[in-house]
Amino acid sequence: MSADDELIALDRAHLWRPYTSSDDHANRPLLVVDRAEGPWLITAKGRRVLDASGSWWCNNLGHGHPRLRAAIVRQSERVMHCTLAAATHEPASRLAAELVEVAPEGLDRVFYSDNGSTAVEVALKIAFQYWQQNGRPQRDRFLALPGAYHGDTLGAMSAGDVDEFTGVFRPLLFDVQRPPDAVDHNWEPVFERLFALLREDVDQIAGVIVEPMVQGAAGMRMYPASLLAALREETKRADTFLIADEVFTGLGRTGPMWGCDHAGIAPDLLCAAKGLSGGVLPFAATLATGRIYDGFRGDKSRALMHGHTFCGNPLGAAIAREVLSIYRDDDVLEAAKPKAAKLAARIQSMTEVPGVTSPRSLGMCAAFEVGTRGYMGTVGWQIADAALELGAHLRPLGNTVYVVPPLNIVDADLERLLDIVRESTERVLVSAQ
Ligand SMILES: *Cc1c(COP(=O)(O)O)cnc(C)c1O
Repeated sequence: MSADDELIALDRAHLWRPYTSSDDHANRPLLVVDRAEGPWLITAKGRRVLDASGSWWCNNLGHGHPRLRAAIVRQSERVMHCTLAAATHEPASRLAAELVEVAPEGLDRVFYSDNGSTAVEVALKIAFQYWQQNGRPQRDRFLALPGAYHGDTLGAMSAGDVDEFTGVFRPLLFDVQRPPDAVDHNWEPVFERLFALLREDVDQIAGVIVEPMVQGAAGMRMYPASLLAALREETKRADTFLIADEVFTGLGRTGPMWGCDHAGIAPDLLCAAKGLSGGVLPFAATLATGRIYDGFRGDKSRALMHGHTFCGNPLGAAIAREVLSIYRDDDVLEAAKPKAAKLAARIQSMTEVPGVTSPRSLGMCAAFEVGTRGYMGTVGWQIADAALELGAHLRPLGNTVYVVPPLNIVDADLERLLDIVRESTERVLVSAQ
């Protein structure tokens, strides 16, 4: 038995894989990654495979970035973890200031947690508790969008709407209202209905949570910036909170630093994770305005009742600081613009393959459809299998095929990745006819 076969056997015997049925675990191919650099996942035998999903949408600066490696080593020699309860350390304090610096206007407080779901939980709890103790306790409900995905914990799932992920848990979730889904990608009536819900129940709404610009898990669904700007106006008029879940869209994934920047707006609460640590360590932040923070002044009973063991973990915070520093030094967002243009053009040209529809992209995020069955579709998986043979690791959302490469991927690797996407899609769709 080769070393890889042994690892696969152990994995199949004892590991429980995310979003994978036990039978798929037993039968579907598993890539054994020995090391990784840039956009490449590398096996023990030296086979190189392109990481098309950015290791689940977080690997914004490529694998093994030398500056991130060095930052971990440096920080590990000082303190790897200590409590944030009545203690602090350089990475946590400085990162908070540096995040505020790059955040949309007015977000000047930072609460740390470990992942995107907890960043969302924290935002929901902050909004809820704020109104409880600041004179409007009847504001106990949230509004969200159809197709929303905000994470896998119970609160985040309550805000979410992707039925394949949340359906079975519905009885455990709290009620979040949302308008009916868009028909033919027409989002205007969806937002109009959302505004109507807000106006009807303005005294009861603690906040409105959205993924700015792109709904990732729903299948990389994109809506216009003008609607996000209108939502900001409506929530201002209602004097309730706009919560921007930038877990996926943040850190330049869609072009500018934040999805909100497309609309030139600042939310009241902003959730960041994934790319915040360069996709290297579990690390997240929920940003809030000074007004919200001030709502937690007073005695102990008014404190935000939330905190994780690894809140503000020094290694994670040091990495996030280094990520922001690399963005500044290498002008990562500016340098990604021509790559995003190339990605957009190549994805558009995918419609030359019969059976490909709805090509779309925003920044370094691009997707197309290969069938109508959405997440439960199987054509995307056939394409993923073909792509793996050709040297790219795709992670389709059913029949939505997407690529989310590092923002700093070199052009030749990006071309190679898009060649493989094209070839694997042709293999499956053309041979199926
Ligand atoms: C991935 C994601 C989350 C959840 O983040 P985890 O780190 O997986 O818990 C929340 N919101 C959005 C928009 C995401 O894409």
